[in-house]
Amino acid sequence: MFYTSTRGENDKLTAAQVIKKGIASDGGLYMPEKIPHIDEDFIKALCAMDYTGRAEKVLELFLDDYKNLADICKKAYSTASFGENPAPVKAAGEVNFLELWHGPTCAFKDMALQFMPLALSEALKMTNSEKDACILVATSGDTGKAALEGYKNLDKIKIMVFYPCDGVSKIQKLQMASQEGDNVNVCAIRGNFDDAQSGVKKIFADKDFAADADKAGYFLSSANSINWGRLAPQVVYYISAYCDLVNAGKIKLGAPINVCVPTGNFGNIFAAYIAREMGLNIQKFVCASNKNNILTDFINTGVYDRNRPFYQTSSPSMDILISSNLERLLYLLDGCENTTAYMKALNEDGKYTVSPETHAKIERLFYGFYCDEDNTRATIKKYFENNAYLMDTHTAVAAYCAEQYRAKTCDNTEMLVVSTASPYKFSADVLSSFGIAADGDEFAAVRALEQHTKAPIPAPIAALMGKTARFTTIVDKKDMAGEVMKFLEA
Ligand SMILES: *Cc1c(COP(=O)(O)O)cnc(C)c1O
Repeated sequence: MFYTSTRGENDKLTAAQVIKKGIASDGGLYMPEKIPHIDEDFIKALCAMDYTGRAEKVLELFLDDYKNLADICKKAYSTASFGENPAPVKAAGEVNFLELWHGPTCAFKDMALQFMPLALSEALKMTNSEKDACILVATSGDTGKAALEGYKNLDKIKIMVFYPCDGVSKIQKLQMASQEGDNVNVCAIRGNFDDAQSGVKKIFADKDFAADADKAGYFLSSANSINWGRLAPQVVYYISAYCDLVNAGKIKLGAPINVCVPTGNFGNIFAAYIAREMGLNIQKFVCASNKNNILTDFINTGVYDRNRPFYQTSSPSMDILISSNLERLLYLLDGCENTTAYMKALNEDGKYTVSPETHAKIERLFYGFYCDEDNTRATIKKYFENNAYLMDTHTAVAAYCAEQYRAKTCDNTEMLVVSTASPYKFSADVLSSFGIAADGDEFAAVRALEQHTKAPIPAPIAALMGKTARFTTIVDKKDMAGEVMKFLEA
């Protein structure tokens, strides 16, 4: 199978090449030329398999140039990393929660970032790469740690993560600063997330830097969610959840389901859309946003307008005004010429309007809802008290939007709500939903949440409590490139 750019570049690349390259030279995102089809027999066979087996069967449809996917999937979704079941489905109230946070960093990014680094490592071998890869990441929290865990101790790869000194939670900071592995580096920068992000982008765009890195034996690569290597493993858990619903007797094989996804960069919900394009019977997509409700407006009006205030919320991984993976949906619905024009307008005016036909196609499948801070807290409290189900702030946004969808449409199709983080990752905010404030550091909130809910603290968070920082460097934005070069030459 070959991959092409959403903006029409002529290149046709294999999966290994695409995973190495990340973004297309014309600025577009890579998509498979043709989306593979699965039928009922395929899904039926998957119903009898465990998650690793399901992952192998689905991923070999997309990464057909890989010879050892079975080994990669076994390693990526091992019991040591994810426990017995990497993506369990739990019924609570009227819906089913697909829990994607049983990995090493307790957030759903692990589902992709335990897989993609191994796929990159293999791609370097398959393409006889003379250079090693240097992964650069700017993070506002979750992605940095998940990437560090995924890439640590892999051959021919180094990873360096930048985070804003005062822009991440204490737990997130300690998670990164205590990272183990001999090919990793973590550096705080003075500034906010935008400074970290624009600093990394500047390094990627710097031709002189690339030449120096090349001399040191490296090419630069990104762990960003626009890489196809992150999207493909996300398709797996939708098909897997469908199998689990069949096995639990909740639906008959072939029956429709709806999905509701807490959305930021549009990667997770787009993976669900790919599953539908493959043949999985997903009827409606509920796109759940927090107060940064740019996608709600887009789905309702066809106008994407980022000229609006940016809010910091208790679901920070969804505090996003540019949902990069939306480009892939536009490409499938409207072709590369129009997509290129939309992205040009977004870049120049911060705004674009899709054609009425495209908007109609989106409205047939997608429903946009959003949830404010009060309703986020109320939803956490309600599910815990009524259903003994504890969820984090991001998941609560989705649970609320799923209710809104049902109330508006009276559609009672079985609903899968995607749960993207452990409640302990956002302990202080989850705790405040119960009207409790924790005094002291973030671990005080973790302990107080455990005391109040009796929910088990995930092992990676418990382990963190005794750890000390290994990386303590703080630099100015202008010195980021120098830090990377020092790391590559070390
Ligand atoms: C990244 C993230 C999201 C948003 O996922 P997208 O693929 O960017 O839409 C939601 N919840 C959590 C906890 C996340 O880390």
